[in-house]
Amino acid sequence: MKDKILVTQSSLPRFDEYVEEISSIWHSHFLTNNGEKAQQLEKLLCNYLDVDETSVFSNGHMALELALQALDLEGEVITTPFTFVSTTNAIVRNGLIPVFCDIKENDFTLDPSQIENLITEKTCAILPVHVYGNICEVNEIERIAKKYDLKVIYDAAHAFGVTYKKQGIANFGDLSMFSFHATKVFNTIEGGAITTYDKQLAYKLSQLRNFGLINESTIEEPAPNAKMNEFQAAMGVCNLRHIEENIDSRKKVVERYRRNLKEVSGIWVSSEQENVESNYAYFPIVVDEVLFGYDRDELSTFLNDNNVFPRKYFYPLTSKFDYYKHEYSTNTTPIAEKIANSVLTLPLFPDLSLEKVDYICGLIKSKGANK
Ligand SMILES: *Cc1c(COP(=O)(O)O)cnc(C)c1O
Repeated sequence: MKDKILVTQSSLPRFDEYVEEISSIWHSHFLTNNGEKAQQLEKLLCNYLDVDETSVFSNGHMALELALQALDLEGEVITTPFTFVSTTNAIVRNGLIPVFCDIKENDFTLDPSQIENLITEKTCAILPVHVYGNICEVNEIERIAKKYDLKVIYDAAHAFGVTYKKQGIANFGDLSMFSFHATKVFNTIEGGAITTYDKQLAYKLSQLRNFGLINESTIEEPAPNAKMNEFQAAMGVCNLRHIEENIDSRKKVVERYRRNLKEVSGIWVSSEQENVESNYAYFPIVVDEVLFGYDRDELSTFLNDNNVFPRKYFYPLTSKFDYYKHEYSTNTTPIAEKIANSVLTLPLFPDLSLEKVDYICGLIKSKGANK
């Protein structure tokens, strides 16, 4: 293959569609500060995500940090190390202590059967991640949270548009964070949102994203600037018009991967979760070194040599980052460790042609046959 095949490619509307969307911004000279486009996007998102309240932010990470600040938490937060470092950073930057819980081998989400062992009198919240768009065991997590009076904040950065039993995934937990980064299923260039059923929390979040100001001369607590600007929001309005067709194209790519790879010895391929309408955000495979004949890193290098660039996502575990490993990694998470060392996410985006998918799968098969 002459052209590089990268792990993802950002979705964009047609150029003229975006130009038309931003023309009113030129007219009004109103570029940011909770403008018309940002408010329009919040309404559209409430509808699409099937939630009461949506607050948009400059990016997903700031949304998550401010969600934790809004809940006024203190103490320990039970979370997963199998995530992007943003999740752990948001906990630590709020003065909270991450307590790492292991994940399930079949879908890589937090293992609810291990949560209760980690609860102490300092535990204040659970912060699970809907990894790759696979949803957590939301009912079991809710049962535990109720029993111990804990808050639940979902990192739903990967789960935009996913439904469980026909209900938007943001209807579970106290708050959910979505990322609208350029590489995500739905993007506003950079951006993010917090969704909730709680009007008062949404109101507080609207202050926290604007320095904590409740009026021109008063803050209730210090907060940063994390507002979404009008150009980001306009990109969101455009991209949301095409979300269904984009998810549909992703689904075709994923089905092609599954069909091609399901019989390859040593390559484990994820399957659909029950009662879940997926967004096909990522396509992870897990490499069994013994059966496949090569380990994950060797397969990755081989693909790179052939101009295919998958990603070791998530590797390393956040609990293994130098900064965190001495301070917080007291408990062990063997399954998370094993997955981080053997997982590879393959290229996946709406415009990826099925011929290219066949090409990538052909490379993987040829490597495995060549042991
Ligand atoms: C992308 C991502 C974030 C951060 O979102 P940004 O919009 O990039 O700030 C947080 N958690 C996970 C799991 C992510 O994938």
